[in-house]
Amino acid sequence: MDANLFVINCGSSSLKLAVFDDQHRKRASALAERLNSNDAFARIAGSEQPVPLPSGASHETALSTLIKVLKDQRIMANDPFAIGHRVVHGGETFREAALLDDETIAAIEDCASLAPLHTPVNLAGISAARRLFPSVPQVAVFDTAFHQTLPPKAFLYALPESYYRDWAVRRYGFHGTSHYFMVQEAARRLGRTPVTTSIISAHLGNGCSITAIRNGISVDTSMGLTPLEGLVMGTRSGDVDPGLFDFLAGKGISAEELNEVLNKQSGLLGLSGQTNDMRSLCDLADRGHEPSALAIEIFCFRLAKYVGAMMVSLTSLDALVFTGGIGENSARVRQQTVSHLQLMGFQIDTELNEAHGAHNQGHVESGGSRFPVLVIPTNEELVIAQESSRLATNSST
Ligand code: ADP
Repeated sequence: MDANLFVINCGSSSLKLAVFDDQHRKRASALAERLNSNDAFARIAGSEQPVPLPSGASHETALSTLIKVLKDQRIMANDPFAIGHRVVHGGETFREAALLDDETIAAIEDCASLAPLHTPVNLAGISAARRLFPSVPQVAVFDTAFHQTLPPKAFLYALPESYYRDWAVRRYGFHGTSHYFMVQEAARRLGRTPVTTSIISAHLGNGCSITAIRNGISVDTSMGLTPLEGLVMGTRSGDVDPGLFDFLAGKGISAEELNEVLNKQSGLLGLSGQTNDMRSLCDLADRGHEPSALAIEIFCFRLAKYVGAMMVSLTSLDALVFTGGIGENSARVRQQTVSHLQLMGFQIDTELNEAHGAHNQGHVESGGSRFPVLVIPTNEELVIAQESSRLATNSST
């Protein structure tokens, strides 16, 4: 009979479930949305029929309902042998994935003040899965863990040092699972080993971050204490002058309001006044909507500046890598970004770029480029499945 492994990713009102087999092949996936509201619903990937959920369904109800449907439809027969959870913040406690027990859960709770919106939701998913499968080993895989190798010069803010000592104020970085996957996959494609591979990895989805990876290890990254710092994103501003808080306080805008604006109403959405969706923005720009064209230009310019900044932490570079929904699919963003990097020797081949490097191992650089430029689809779920399987197997031997 088949052996299954679950990967669970809980957002504030959503739950994603992926089912892998013991060879880490994805067998099925499902998504529940609008949880805890009147119009909660779910869907199994590949099926037209929505899965009915009761009004106000919780993460636990969604999970148990989806598992029942997957079993009823014979998409899976057995309970999982391991469950992996995506957890956003592991603070300085977690440098790698961890097997979940009461002690590790308490340690995750201790990190909650660093990610007050995400941690309770991640813990809700963990509790639900533990109640449903009390004897199955469960593993937490942290978005921050890969960046715990940052040196102090990269992770400390130039603030009074007591802020770090007393309140753990520092740069943590996020999207670590994706950046980790990038260096594994780039190394494989370049015929190298990850520990001898140095890349700059740009993860461009709704959230965007860029990481310098030196010999397989994260040495600098653009996101900070929170995922707000760094690049321009879908609805997040990325870097702004911290003096903005005082200036806008003088205009009657509270820190709470400004935080909401910087996270939810800025970035591509704020600049274009239309949408946070890059594909729609490109369409608008093609039809002559100037604010959308400008939003894309600012996005690419900031990204290019950060590529330059990431070079500072490296002594050699094996590839600049693009990933995430935008990085994988937008030839325009890659082209506009690399056009700012000519002095550093990056050059893109238009045809390869338009084809997203398909049939070419992801390579989109031109013959004269000083460095390879790769397009690599991310696969965070696979990393979570691999890590969970490894730790669960170790725990039972
Ligand atoms: P998330 O961070 O939520 O996982 P994704 O990685 O799926 O998001 O990225 C979503 C972004 O990718 C959106 O801005 C979307 O418009 C963009 N995107 C997807 N396909 C394309 C495309 N063909 N061209 C430009 N942007 C695209």
